[in-house]
Amino acid sequence: MRTFCKVCSSSADSFNFGALTCRACSAFFRRCVLQNYEPINSCDEKCEISAKSRRLCKNCRFEKCLSIGMKQYKVVMKITPKSLRQNSFLHLIDIEKFDKKLEIAKTMNFEQTGNKKNDLINYPVFNDVFARYSEIVMENIEIAYPQSGGIEKSQRNILLNNFVAPFIFIEGAFISENLSLWVFPNGECLDSNRSECFYMMHENDETGAISNKLFKPYWVKMHEKLRIPLEDAKLNKAELFYLFSLIFWDDKLDGQSEKVSELCRIQRQKLFTELIEYEKQWCSTDTSLRIGKILLLLPAVQSAIQIMSESSKIHVLYDVHDHHSSVFKSLGF
Ligand SMILES: [Zn+2]
Ligand SMILES: [Zn+2]
Repeated sequence: MRTFCKVCSSSADSFNFGALTCRACSAFFRRCVLQNYEPINSCDEKCEISAKSRRLCKNCRFEKCLSIGMKQYKVVMKITPKSLRQNSFLHLIDIEKFDKKLEIAKTMNFEQTGNKKNDLINYPVFNDVFARYSEIVMENIEIAYPQSGGIEKSQRNILLNNFVAPFIFIEGAFISENLSLWVFPNGECLDSNRSECFYMMHENDETGAISNKLFKPYWVKMHEKLRIPLEDAKLNKAELFYLFSLIFWDDKLDGQSEKVSELCRIQRQKLFTELIEYEKQWCSTDTSLRIGKILLLLPAVQSAIQIMSESSKIHVLYDVHDHHSSVFKSLGF
């Protein structure tokens, strides 16, 4: 059976970035995402997109790609053979492997069915999913950061405690289609605006209602301090990877030895060099502006960790739910 591109109606190639399209539209979409394309309103936004006319309006073609379900986050960095030869993006290569490994682990470890998409997650399920996913992230961390292999265990844990929870939340925000949702590896979401669904197992769940009252403000804060800045930064996948790595190689953590701190500084320096090179090659807008945006997310991540830390004290104080919540465990509390 002949199938048609949902963007331009010419013969379809296959599913690309989440929708059935032709090769040209797939390549177009990838290019736009990698270049952080920002639509300019140069038309009345009603241009017809056909095989003949698709090149005429970039704005409408891109909008159509999004509207038929192509996803920006599905664009995996393609590293050009030339830059590979120059060894410019060594770091991206490692973290891309890590990302692929996690994708496979997610399909193997978590049941993901299409209709479960955007279902709201509740506390017990979340706790379990988070615990299992943290394990997976930790087990594979050396794929992303081979240099962390030689670090002594207690020092390594300091790095991991600072990394795993922000990693899972940021990843969940990145792949979410809705500004108030955080998506978790089983495909279910947490809605910052509807925390009652998270805590209350049924309508008359009194314990759940109390928890919701106590913790709702923290979810609101997480939304403000992390979710919104992330959304505003509009990172592409490579930039997201660089952000993760900057979080991992934090050189100012409590209890960190001088040796590890030095290693972190060296790694961060390498990352900056790579990131600058990346932005120069791929980014159509102002390089330093892009880098500034990414760096500004680091304090946002720190405040998110602070918020989680505060809420963990509430857990203990009021003796609600279990104290060994997997998020707090991953943070080392
Ligand atoms: Zn097409
Ligand atoms: Zn147009």
